[in-house]
Amino acid sequence: MAKVGFIGWRGMVGSVLMERMRAENDFKGFDAIFASTSQIGQNGPDVGLPVRPLENAYDMEKLLDMDIIVTCQGSDYTKKMYPQLRGNGWIGYWIDAASALRMEDDATIVLDPVNLDVIKQSLETGIKNYIGGNCTVSLMLMAMAGLFKKGLIEWVTSMTYQAASGAGAKNMRELVSQMDVIAKSCDRLLDHPESAIEEIDRNVITRMRHDAFPTAQFGAALAGSLIPWIDSPMPSGQTREEWKGYAETNKILKTKIPIPIDGICVRIGAMRCHSQALTIKLKKNVPLEEIKSYIAGANDWVRVIDDNKADTLKYLTPAAVTGTLDVPVGRIRKLNMGPEYLTCFTVGDQLLWGAAEPVRRILKIVLDHIG
Ligand code: NAP
Repeated sequence: MAKVGFIGWRGMVGSVLMERMRAENDFKGFDAIFASTSQIGQNGPDVGLPVRPLENAYDMEKLLDMDIIVTCQGSDYTKKMYPQLRGNGWIGYWIDAASALRMEDDATIVLDPVNLDVIKQSLETGIKNYIGGNCTVSLMLMAMAGLFKKGLIEWVTSMTYQAASGAGAKNMRELVSQMDVIAKSCDRLLDHPESAIEEIDRNVITRMRHDAFPTAQFGAALAGSLIPWIDSPMPSGQTREEWKGYAETNKILKTKIPIPIDGICVRIGAMRCHSQALTIKLKKNVPLEEIKSYIAGANDWVRVIDDNKADTLKYLTPAAVTGTLDVPVGRIRKLNMGPEYLTCFTVGDQLLWGAAEPVRRILKIVLDHIG
């Protein structure tokens, strides 16, 4: 029976992965070994199997014994342990949610509803590293797979509205704390509908600009505001998050001629759903109904939302999509610029399709492959 080591299972991505694996009854047909970098000897997770004490995630002998390692621990762990493992002759499969190995030649970025052909080819050619993609890229590809598959896309620009969870658990907490401070700055006034809105507004902005406003994680107010910068600067003038759009999309699709993709990535005060407004230059003028049928037919999770206010409010918001695998695409229409210019808006849970789900699914694919 294959031995599968799970590292980083109690973090944000890892715990969503555990939840999904339990829900899908995935913990069967292999020996699951759980490890930690900090909780060694404590109880592992309850996955419906006898609970065993946690192994040391830095124990090289233990790791060398694994057929598959699934890690959601982060890039620092990958950079420390992966080269040592391979250096010690380990030939197992490395499945990773972190970005460290994504762009390596011997790694495939996984999003099987979109690139199962690339994954299968990689398995056949002996590739052993399978890495989850950037959340924004994966969600955009889930939404637009139908148009990519049809070869209709000349270029894409994506303007993103990204959730706090993409920055980590501490950032999610900070967003809620910021909301709490803002609400408390005017709660007495909110109880009185006749109170002056200028006073509420002044109280809010005064509190948001105060030194005591909680900004240790984001470095700025996110609640009641937004932050048009995600990750580190690149020499191109893009942020790293923006750079990934082009680099990862073309790697996931294994395009022969790279498709230009660029835009501005913005952090907003959503908890765990990323949204994106896409502008797409099509290679030719395709009727809107045909476009919608390509989008809707691409996979089991994408849903075309009728372009009206009621459906948009009901189905096309982070509040509606959080915790589901749905990838709604709405506001689909041609732009004034011409019949080849398309716009749409899409939302997705970045901890599911953006992180844990592709990792869950590639584990099953690899297990099937090795029999
Ligand atoms: P995380 O929540 O910080 O968890 C990482 C590790 O931190 C845990 O496995 C755990 O390891 C340790 N940890 C320390 N204190 C903890 C606590 N109080 N609760 C839970 N765990 C704690 O990291 P993450 O956001 O899941 O991200 C993991 C990797 O996935 C990163 O490389 C990230 O870039 C990538 N990723 C993240 C997202 C996202 O949306 N967050 C999306 C795609 C990819 P020990 O048990 O060893 O202590």
